[in-house]
Amino acid sequence: MKKFFSLLLAMTLVVCCFAGCNSGKDAETTASETEKDAAPVVETIEKGKLIMATNAYFAPYEYHEGDKIVGIDVEIAEAIAAKLGLELEIKDMEFNSLLVAVNEGKADMVLAGLTVTEDRKAEVDFSISYASGVQSIIVKEDSPITTVDDLFAEGSTYVAGVQLGTTGDTYATGDLGSERVYQVANGNEAILTLLKGDIDCVIIDNEPAKKYVEANEGLKILDTSYIEEDYAACFAKGNEELREAVDAAIEDLIADGTIDKIIAKYIK
Ligand code: GLN
Repeated sequence: MKKFFSLLLAMTLVVCCFAGCNSGKDAETTASETEKDAAPVVETIEKGKLIMATNAYFAPYEYHEGDKIVGIDVEIAEAIAAKLGLELEIKDMEFNSLLVAVNEGKADMVLAGLTVTEDRKAEVDFSISYASGVQSIIVKEDSPITTVDDLFAEGSTYVAGVQLGTTGDTYATGDLGSERVYQVANGNEAILTLLKGDIDCVIIDNEPAKKYVEANEGLKILDTSYIEEDYAACFAKGNEELREAVDAAIEDLIADGTIDKIIAKYIK
């Protein structure tokens, strides 16, 4: 009888243990399912996708590497998409078409080292800022332009190359007048024009400026910088749902150090 009871006790223990294991597993599944449910479900142009428009001639933020587009903005956008449970797709286009692209529903958002400005705020909605930039001036090593003031001095006739539609373009056109600004589609073209000697300098954001100077002999960046700016993502005007979801994702990615880590990977 004693033996029978101890056997029964042992069997009961084994059964309980299995039940315990099982309920543990159930709890696990339930937790991850709850997490999934909690992931913000936002509507995007194509179900399950987050389409980012950019101009991939802007290293280290976005540039071509083999047949891929890589860079700080790409990695940040990937992290945002992962948080929203979406798959990132990138559309490379001219800088000047980016804001129109979100408003026409060709892309969900823009990440393009894009500066937040009052003029652009009238056209699109911005996320919170995730990085900052400075407008720099690139000249040939033997250039007579040695400071920003030389370029803007009374009576100077130097011509600045800019990427069409950028803040560099807006500031230069305002400060120099349109006849002294040479607009091209991207930074690459601006640098080629400077190397050819058709313009006197290029006004562009500081990190891409460093990359262009590294990649091309005979160029330098002026020590004095021009204007400081904040970068953010932008969305179609009135797309509150996506903007709020991306803001929350960026807040998390700033708080847990992901964005700092991504930036440090590209900017030493
Ligand atoms: N930061 C600049 C702007 O927003 C340039 C961006 C770019 O050329 N990708 O206008």
